[in-house]
Amino acid sequence: MPLTPEILQKLETIVGASFVFTDEETRNHYGHDETEDYVFPPSVVVKPASAQEISQIVKLANEYKIPVVPIGGRTGLSGGALSIYQGIGLSTDRLNSILEIDERNLQVVTEPAVITQVLQETLLEKGLFYPVDPSSRGSCFIGGNVAENAGGARAVKYGVTKDYVLNLEVVLPTGEIIWTGANTLKNSTGYNLTQLMVGSEGTLGIITKIVLKLLPKNAHNVLMLVPFYKAEQACEAVSAIFRAGVVPSALEFMERDAIDWAIKYIEGVNIAIKDEIKAHLLIEVDGNYPDVLMLEAEKIMGVVEQFEIDEILFADTEDQKNALWRMRRGVAEAVKSNSVYKEEDTVVPRYELPTLLKGIKTIGDKYGFKSVCYGHAGDGNLHVNIIKADMTDDNWKTQVPKGIREIFELTVSLKGTLSGEHGIGYVQKNFMDIAFNNSQLQLMKSIKKVFDPNNILNPGKIFPDAL
Ligand SMILES: Cc1cc2nc3c(=O)[nH]c(=O)nc-3n(C[C@H](O)[C@H](O)[C@H](O)COP(=O)(O)OP(=O)(O)OC[C@H]3O[C@@H](n4cnc5c(N)ncnc54)[C@H](O)[C@@H]3O)c2cc1C
Repeated sequence: MPLTPEILQKLETIVGASFVFTDEETRNHYGHDETEDYVFPPSVVVKPASAQEISQIVKLANEYKIPVVPIGGRTGLSGGALSIYQGIGLSTDRLNSILEIDERNLQVVTEPAVITQVLQETLLEKGLFYPVDPSSRGSCFIGGNVAENAGGARAVKYGVTKDYVLNLEVVLPTGEIIWTGANTLKNSTGYNLTQLMVGSEGTLGIITKIVLKLLPKNAHNVLMLVPFYKAEQACEAVSAIFRAGVVPSALEFMERDAIDWAIKYIEGVNIAIKDEIKAHLLIEVDGNYPDVLMLEAEKIMGVVEQFEIDEILFADTEDQKNALWRMRRGVAEAVKSNSVYKEEDTVVPRYELPTLLKGIKTIGDKYGFKSVCYGHAGDGNLHVNIIKADMTDDNWKTQVPKGIREIFELTVSLKGTLSGEHGIGYVQKNFMDIAFNNSQLQLMKSIKKVFDPNNILNPGKIFPDAL
């Protein structure tokens, strides 16, 4: 929907003419994230600098019934930031300051457009640890992390974004500006609006300030890479490690193709892998006492040696550790550079991982697609990358969605769910009926209506088209 000159003029009055963009290049830039090859440019991109400006934009959008899509770092993998009905693309880029580091209470107050890695590194300099570590941390925003309830490699020990969000300043879809809770570590006061906002994918409000809980930083870690001759055994080892009494700070699974493609894609990673190896686990333990970590590492070795494995690689130096993490973090981009693909974010109770992996391969054989799986195995979170390669466009369009539906049905039958950390957004919304019945979906839709009676904020996301 093209916006009238009158509306554009009003937007310019709110944010200043130099922060309203209608040129094709800017609209395309803010019209895509990292989801497949989708591009949905908004009619206009605006870059407000404060909650007050956002409030005025949202009030204007209500008056003219214009969709508003909050846009963060655009690293999303479920299409949440895509302006599928055009309208106003509301970039949070200018809300990019860390406002206060409270060392007495181990808290930070930040604006949403701070890059997650910048936040982490700024805090580390003060001996503070923000553990949520999405592989996209070099480019995603902390606001996008809150909106998606992002996870990452260290969630297995430290939890996900929701576990660190204490309080939020939010512009509601009607334009009011509220705080959702209090800056306290516990809170039993009324409904938990803070947690309702976390993971709401930009559909219930625009987050403008975030109060996060922090931890003291850990002094040491041990990182090892374990090669397995059978991928399902790597998955079996995951729950066995916890049953042995160790909680690793990261426990990542990579199928053979994932690691091969990443090694080729990422510079400076040299690992020799035998042809027969089918999967790896990247395992980290962290803490303050090296002796304890060595004992934990030995316990883990005792577990994985019960399976068919090759020699374990221990990262001896910081350089080696960084190289292994660069390789792991680079898998998604390596897959993308190899082929058109669709990524699913399945999550099951971790003991069910081997069954999930086996089922995914069987479903792939049935519908004629290859998949490359990797992910945060310690959380039972498996990213399933369905590779187009030389599949015909027709099969890609007709067979793959049937296969994805079966993968999700299998996931839910194992007491899992559709997304562990990437959200539902645009691309998974029509599978929501697998995870929720009509009553559950209607309840969610009613909540959306209370917050956003005119359905202007990020419409067309989360809810199935048929609802
Ligand atoms: C290579 C790669 C690796 C990844 N690894 C991980 C991983 O390990 N763990 C993980 O959890 N995710 C991962 N992701 C997915 C992605 O990085 C996360 O979902 C991230 O949280 C998105 O943040 P963003 O700032 O890029 O948000 P965007 O993509 O810009 O937006 C995501 C959603 O948040 C909403 N939103 C953004 N800002 C706000 C705001 N201020 N207020 C309200 N709503 C807002 C948008 O409307 C949209 O619905 C990865 C992605 C890539 C490309």
